[in-house]
Amino acid sequence: MTATRTTDLRTGTTVWEARRLRGPASEPLRRDARTGVLVVGAGVSGALIAQALAEAGEDVMVIDRRGLAKGATAASTALLQYELDEPMIRLARKRGIEATRRIWRRSRLAVAAIGERARRLGIDADIHERCSLYLAGDRLDARDLEREWAERKRAGFEVELLSRRDLKDRFGLSRAAAILAFGNYEADPRRLALGFLKDAAARGARLHCPVELAGFESTARGVTARTREGLTIRARELVLATGYEMPEDVPADAHEIVSTWAIATRPQPRNLWPDHCLIWEASDPYLYARATTDGRIVCGGEDEDFADVATRDALLPRKTKALERKLARLMPWVDPRAEFAWTGSFGASRDGAPSIGRAPGLARVHACLGYGGNGTTFSMMAAQMIAADIGGRPDPDAELFAFQR
Ligand SMILES: Cc1cc2nc3c(=O)[nH]c(=O)nc-3n(C[C@H](O)[C@H](O)[C@H](O)COP(=O)(O)OP(=O)(O)OC[C@H]3O[C@@H](n4cnc5c(N)ncnc54)[C@H](O)[C@@H]3O)c2cc1C
Repeated sequence: MTATRTTDLRTGTTVWEARRLRGPASEPLRRDARTGVLVVGAGVSGALIAQALAEAGEDVMVIDRRGLAKGATAASTALLQYELDEPMIRLARKRGIEATRRIWRRSRLAVAAIGERARRLGIDADIHERCSLYLAGDRLDARDLEREWAERKRAGFEVELLSRRDLKDRFGLSRAAAILAFGNYEADPRRLALGFLKDAAARGARLHCPVELAGFESTARGVTARTREGLTIRARELVLATGYEMPEDVPADAHEIVSTWAIATRPQPRNLWPDHCLIWEASDPYLYARATTDGRIVCGGEDEDFADVATRDALLPRKTKALERKLARLMPWVDPRAEFAWTGSFGASRDGAPSIGRAPGLARVHACLGYGGNGTTFSMMAAQMIAADIGGRPDPDAELFAFQR
């Protein structure tokens, strides 16, 4: 079994790095080890999965070759939305309307679970519940948006359709129409991941960094993992929460890696919009924006369909300007100048849904390809589904997200 590919996941300084943080303690691994479940990856996926397993009483070890929350998680703009990148009316063409409703409802439950679990565990990560505005664009125009709104209503979601006039009067934005939805969240993604890792550690999970998984053998009886440092970890179950660096043996052909860019402005709390709702566009590429607790505007998008890191990084100055321009066009009253600008690799799946569960052909190996603009929502789904499976209570929605579906 091969190790995971190494990618330069992100470049530039993210707004979350402006603040020094003390995460839970971790240390390198010094000798061979045994554990019940070995979680590879200490980003938000590994953090949520490790916490769920530790809370369920499992013996858990987490390893990461970079450190805690140092991968894509630190680059996330952390709009925690249940609304999938793929609108219901489009997903229905690919997966059928019944599966589409279940996928969207499960996504809604996963987002709610992030907020509820963080509150219950006392995790302080600037988590705030937010409504969201989905603006008409070149992907869905006002008429499509009306069909999307009707489909969401039929599935039981609480949503409002805003006309051009409503949108202007209530939010000051000029677009042909928008869907206003409720029950999404925003957070500081690093603090979110570190908070969950800290809780896992308090329940006995062992955190080891930097430790790199170099390969593994899996049989029906368990998994033997080899580290780059020459040590062996024996585990009953292995969870690959390696983000965009999945081993090649885990089928990822329904997913692709693209590049994305983001900026954060200086704090301007007086310039923010009502309810600080999350704003995103039904366009390709799309623009999205949110506010931070200290009143900055975080804005991202400009995605391009390539994964080449050198090209991605070289475009940072140009993409920063493009985001500033688009933000100024959307909200002419704000100061759009970037104080932070960064870029990162970003996963996208063909149907906007993640792949979660047992890796085909690999006994006792679970994986989470929580790709897309809803990555963190999918990380929570993975935590719920993988912990349930390992605990012997398979999740009834798991088949919707299985690798072979
Ligand atoms: C600019 C940008 C904006 C984004 N905005 C949003 C957003 O608004 N909302 C949202 O939900 N998502 C967003 N995302 C996506 C989000 O960042 C990801 O979905 C999420 O962080 C993935 O978390 P993860 O834990 O799966 O991956 P990561 O955080 O990358 O963690 C995986 C970890 O696995 C480790 N690893 C890999 N291979 C090995 C190995 N062989 N041995 C040991 N360790 C290994 C890595 O070092 C890494 O730390 C955004 C992404 C980018 C780049």
